[in-house]
Amino acid sequence: MTNDEAPRVAFQRSCFVILSSFVIRASSFFLICPTALQAADNISVLGNKPKWSVLEHYQETITHGEFAHLINDVYCTHGFAPDLIEINKKTARILMNRETQKFFTLRFAADEAADKHVPRLWRPVKSLPPAQPEKPLSGLKIALDPGHLGGKWAKMEERWFQVGDSKPVEEGDLTLRVARLLAPRLRGLGAKVSFVRNTNEPITPKRPDDFRELAKKILIKNPATAGQPRMGGEVLDPNDPEKEKTIRWQTEILFYRYSEIRRRAARVNFKLHPELVLCLHFNAEGWGDPNNPTLTDINHLHLLVNGSYLADELELDDERFEMIRRLLSRAYDEELPLADTIALAMDRETGLPPYQYPTTNTTTKVGASEYVYARNLLATRLYRCPVVYCEPYVMNSKDVFARIQAGDYEGTRNINGIERKSIFREYADSVTDGLVQYYSKARCDRKAWCQGMTASQPSLVNSTAAQAVAP
Ligand SMILES: [Zn+2]
Repeated sequence: MTNDEAPRVAFQRSCFVILSSFVIRASSFFLICPTALQAADNISVLGNKPKWSVLEHYQETITHGEFAHLINDVYCTHGFAPDLIEINKKTARILMNRETQKFFTLRFAADEAADKHVPRLWRPVKSLPPAQPEKPLSGLKIALDPGHLGGKWAKMEERWFQVGDSKPVEEGDLTLRVARLLAPRLRGLGAKVSFVRNTNEPITPKRPDDFRELAKKILIKNPATAGQPRMGGEVLDPNDPEKEKTIRWQTEILFYRYSEIRRRAARVNFKLHPELVLCLHFNAEGWGDPNNPTLTDINHLHLLVNGSYLADELELDDERFEMIRRLLSRAYDEELPLADTIALAMDRETGLPPYQYPTTNTTTKVGASEYVYARNLLATRLYRCPVVYCEPYVMNSKDVFARIQAGDYEGTRNINGIERKSIFREYADSVTDGLVQYYSKARCDRKAWCQGMTASQPSLVNSTAAQAVAP
């Protein structure tokens, strides 16, 4: 179990999914959105009413076989109610709204050539122009999304712990540090890099108090609180096992997770228009009391792409619509090989073993690297382009904790008896290597002048890049 999941699991089991699991899981509790208060609407938290007519643009852009494969092997691996999606020979019928019994009908393409006409704002790698070997990312728009907020928000986000008098570990600060090291590396290779967040302040203008009424409604509707939500004190006790039943805790998560990520999505989709978003995180194992955390010997790596929707999530009209739109955009065709390639580069550089989720209830392993899982997270669902979500390093492992305490530095230092790069540079270098490998292969195979790139590769980033493109 990732730390992300840990705090919420007990409460989840006791009710019908409240604010579902961790790693910023997307959904899901049934709630009538206050901005769309129509009896028949069945929308996720702070979600928007779906515009099904948008899907008309995808008519005849996907074959029956490809659609069925993506539904069965990627997006709906946990099953779904039979009336939600019905795949026929020439069409698929997708439920828009159960109360009104309205359906969207998607017509399949006769052959695979039709995928040339998929409408999207991002360019798949196969349609990018060839690039010079030393600039394999030229013209590629990459948005960096450092996970969480950090700074004064880190405790509220439950992304904070401190061992004795040592410097507190705040995930939101660590991820921003990695993003700031990654950006110049990618720009040096020709990419146009933007930040979804580049400070310790939220993107959303909302604050927890803006969500008091909504938090009350959520708790009143939830059987686990028996219609009697607790107010919560001025400061939540992080060790209170019942804190999730308080209005305060609910207002906070509505602010720092749901409102913040939806706002980031608006920035990605309407302003930045990247070809790729890299969500940067550090993982953790349950650390218990943040003021007296448990350190562990466990350390691992995994990456996530969108998919593996839960049956409850598919019941929500907006999530079902967003899933189908994402499927039809063919983001998976891009993000899976990209995630696999980055994962293997991170494996080479970090030596971390693949994380194994303790259950298959929420995730589905995909790809060939052993490191990549499909999971329905808010960011991976809402950002309308390929998204690769990185979860390296267990922050409260003894090794990673020591490396975080050592901070950023050039060259290597002896940490716990081993000469190591700064953990932040190792993270940035390994992601860069993966991108170099993926885009070099795709953009240079077509050009004769790329024949010599294996020889020139070592100057790109470091020796791992050379290894990555070696025959
Ligand atoms: Zn995180």
